[in-house]
Amino acid sequence: MHSEKFEIGLGNNDSSIRESAKKDYLSFWDECAKSLSWFEPWSKTLQWNPPFAKWFVGGKLNASYNALDVHQKSKSDKTAILWEGEDGTDRKITYGEMFEQVKKLANVLKSLGVKKGDRVTIYLPMIPELPISMLACARIGAVHTVVFSGFSANSLSDRVEDSQSKIIITADGGYRKGKIINLKEIVDESASSIQFVKNVIVYQRTGQEIQINEKDLMWSDVMDTSSDVCDAEKLDSNDSLYILYTSGTTGKPKGVLHGIGGYLTHVYSTYKWAFDIKDHDVYFCTADIGWVTGHSYVVYGPLLHGATQVMYEGAPDHPNSSRMWDIIQKYNVTIFYTTPTALRMLMKFGDDIPNSFDLSTLRLLGTVGEPINPQVWKWYFDVIGKKKCPIIDTWWQTETGGILISPLPGIETIPLKPGSATLPIPGLDISVVDESGNEVEAETKGSLIIKNPWPGMLLGLWKNMEKYKNVYWSKFESLYYPGDYAIKDSDGYLWLLGRSDDVLKVAGHRIGTAELESSIISHNDVAESAVCGIPDDVKGESIIAFVVLKENVHTSDDTLRSELRDTIRTQIGPIATPSQFYVVSKLPKTRSGKIMRRLLKSIANNETIGDVSTLEDGTVVSEIQSTFNELQKNIQNQKN
Ligand code: ATP
Ligand code: MG
Repeated sequence: MHSEKFEIGLGNNDSSIRESAKKDYLSFWDECAKSLSWFEPWSKTLQWNPPFAKWFVGGKLNASYNALDVHQKSKSDKTAILWEGEDGTDRKITYGEMFEQVKKLANVLKSLGVKKGDRVTIYLPMIPELPISMLACARIGAVHTVVFSGFSANSLSDRVEDSQSKIIITADGGYRKGKIINLKEIVDESASSIQFVKNVIVYQRTGQEIQINEKDLMWSDVMDTSSDVCDAEKLDSNDSLYILYTSGTTGKPKGVLHGIGGYLTHVYSTYKWAFDIKDHDVYFCTADIGWVTGHSYVVYGPLLHGATQVMYEGAPDHPNSSRMWDIIQKYNVTIFYTTPTALRMLMKFGDDIPNSFDLSTLRLLGTVGEPINPQVWKWYFDVIGKKKCPIIDTWWQTETGGILISPLPGIETIPLKPGSATLPIPGLDISVVDESGNEVEAETKGSLIIKNPWPGMLLGLWKNMEKYKNVYWSKFESLYYPGDYAIKDSDGYLWLLGRSDDVLKVAGHRIGTAELESSIISHNDVAESAVCGIPDDVKGESIIAFVVLKENVHTSDDTLRSELRDTIRTQIGPIATPSQFYVVSKLPKTRSGKIMRRLLKSIANNETIGDVSTLEDGTVVSEIQSTFNELQKNIQNQKN
């Protein structure tokens, strides 16, 4: 593990928060919930019928009221969204304008017969109409289910079927990597013929020609005639706010169901603690709203706080790899939140590109989605943050609703260690256990578990509470099992080592994928890496590594392999040395940008490939397959 420490904070130090959470986590969350506006108070903080949690029982509130109505007195002219289209167009939308649009759309939905509890599928690109649609649903108690706009017709119809949505909100198209994705056409292909879909509302983003069917309504038509008077419904704290599918990294995506009161309390609090949000900040999160990061920290977190944020429509490297730095400079971004995958990609192009932009407004940097390799962390810290911005490595899941492990510069300064997500948030008891569920000693690897409920936790899996129990609550009794492998060091810092399913078992040793991949990435020529195991008669498992090189690297394969072997031997030990290295041009990734190691494992083990509906680029399968076959053939020839 990386041993360097960086003592860098923002001057906040409020130890009372951790102390009061430690004393009594229920009273603590009770206080946190009071930061929101409630129509009626709750009678009980938590009703815990394991594994089902109900937070703030009996309380009544509304998510859109908390995101918009509460700001109208003091912030109606404040910019909520600084929108940047991929094609270079931009728009500004204030809290006042958003409020009006949300009320109008809520009335449209009501006029189409949408009632409390009904599901609405939102299939929109990253445009302000996406959060507007979510909040319009939330305003009337409809359950939004956002489908990432990069999904194909099949994935869309699966999700519309599963949620039984009455209404689909979409656009004529959206820009991605310089091309237009014909969203309306995809809806027509997949979902408009589904009987229970009554209407399709179409926003015109590109202005291209589209086919208009009987069920279709144009956004501009219905909004023009809609009233902007619409009170927010008084909803129960444990009513459903949304259904959202997980990334599909480890298998078929799971439909996660979130409520209102607990979820908003969690997101409001963690947004303040982790991002230290202030009125004058310009926040920029690169996540698509189609994933949970976008739900919690593009839509609800920032809007609950009345923050100003940049929303970007397209690909981070379009038209070239300077786009992110360009946006930060253009809008004077102060807080930047992205993924290790994006950072590894941007790092590939060297330091000169970011160095040619003025990034001096940045004061805080964050990452989410995968373990961040120490090498990448250092680059982010040095080159992007100029050694003055704390980095928050935030660990959480679609299921957890909000951040659970992260540095919290909004409340305290702790030494940062590159590659560690550091400590759990206040009010949360997280630990590492062995296969029998017993807590392991410090510095020992095991499964990450959570011992007590937290407000942002899922209500369950949509239409499948049995699966909810099986996936998260049956591996260890009375403990929540996120499926991640981890280690707690002697300072109590948590290091996420990859998925438990992907742990490599070599000659009695267990190695998390992140440990090995970080060691491979520490080689100067390597941009990305993914490792997996294949059965081995002697060692139990032997390791194979897939490697993507940085731009313009000309090391010979043999030199690279031997250098990588040396690096791993010194950094981890001979036991962890992969038996084979494959240089490929790209790794299989989910559409939310995570490495799909199970696909590599299936190819390497000659197994059938499971659900790959969330795979970003299907061509990667054949490339890896043929590289793998080629090398196998060579090895066989050498043996003969
Ligand atoms: P599926 O559940 O369908 O396999 P997924 O787990 O990738 O997909 P998400 O909910 O988007 O779906 O991702 C949560 C997972 O992402 C975590 O369980 C963890 O493995 C990983 N993760 C998120 N943030 C971090 C982080 N900061 N460090 C390490 N891992 C992280
Ligand atoms: Mg998961």
